[in-house]
Amino acid sequence: MKVLISDYVWPSIEIEKEFFKKNFFDLEVSESQDDLMSKIHDADALLFCFADINESVLRRAKKLKVAQRYGIGVDNINLDVATELGIAVSNIPDYCIDEVSDHAMSMILALNRTLTPHSNMVKNGKWKEVAKSDRFYRLRDATLGIIGFGRIGRRLSKKAQGFGLNVIAYDPYIKDSQIDGVKMCSLDELLSSSQMVSLHVPLNDETYHIIGKDQFELMPDDVILVNVSRGGLIDENILTDYLAQGKIKGVGLDVMEEEYPDANNPLFQFQNVIVTPHTAYFSQESNEELQIRACEQVFKVISGKKPDYLINPEVLKHNDVNLE
Ligand code: NAD
Repeated sequence: MKVLISDYVWPSIEIEKEFFKKNFFDLEVSESQDDLMSKIHDADALLFCFADINESVLRRAKKLKVAQRYGIGVDNINLDVATELGIAVSNIPDYCIDEVSDHAMSMILALNRTLTPHSNMVKNGKWKEVAKSDRFYRLRDATLGIIGFGRIGRRLSKKAQGFGLNVIAYDPYIKDSQIDGVKMCSLDELLSSSQMVSLHVPLNDETYHIIGKDQFELMPDDVILVNVSRGGLIDENILTDYLAQGKIKGVGLDVMEEEYPDANNPLFQFQNVIVTPHTAYFSQESNEELQIRACEQVFKVISGKKPDYLINPEVLKHNDVNLE
């Protein structure tokens, strides 16, 4: 059996090597998208992180039984083609809920307290010039709107409530009108009544540019906007316009439309924009947990069992798929 790792973003894959050696699987790692194309043809299982698992990659994979995402989002794999070819796609949906919600909360707090711009000014000898005119919100008088009230959105709501924030949420797939002190509302109501907005939805056709021109129009001036989910959720051209007009208090991005943005990206000119390199999920603990659990899921499928978190259950109807 051959397991192929298309890509990973941690220092070592000793965990994977040990796991698959113990189970007598061969393990290979591809160095690039081209290398992935050349090594996928005889792989029985694929572990992938940010690589583009598109239709051509999948059609070359003649033996592939499982494509296991190292992570939560599955927007970088063609699910329809995987299903058509009888490839089970699975993720690890709950390994970094603490870390990502911490990251969103840290951005909200740092942006509200204007930490980065003021720290930079002080370091540049401008202590006295720090303007007290900047908008700082008293948290217990402010509202945080959470878009997408799943695992991360809910964990964030608890942390935000701990800081005294009023929390409201929009999630069309939840029918309750209130959950744990969080009022569910429409997207328009959320945008027009929140001083802070945080995005926690998957990226798909429905959520692409969920924050565009119409949505920015609804948000109050001096809004704080945080996105630790996926870059495609916010229309960055419109965001840049609104920042240039001085209408936004601060923006926190852990993800961008372009995953490896150029240093000349127009968003980087603004002092009130914090950007981190898709590290919201990260702690040593969450990473190790991800590596081990991803290997276990691959082993399960190769051993003829359904993975714990099957993304494309329709694959079970495929003639070549026989998972208990
Ligand atoms: P989840 O599946 O538990 O929750 C997502 C919620 O979004 C669900 O409740 C769903 O009903 C809701 N939703 C779906 N479509 C919606 C829409 N159109 N409008 C409003 N709500 C909608 O997922 P999660 O664990 O909370 O993760 C959310 C996202 O965070 C993931 O999809 C992933 O892209 C991202 N993520 C990022 C990192 C990182 O390191 N930056 C790490 C993990 C996850």
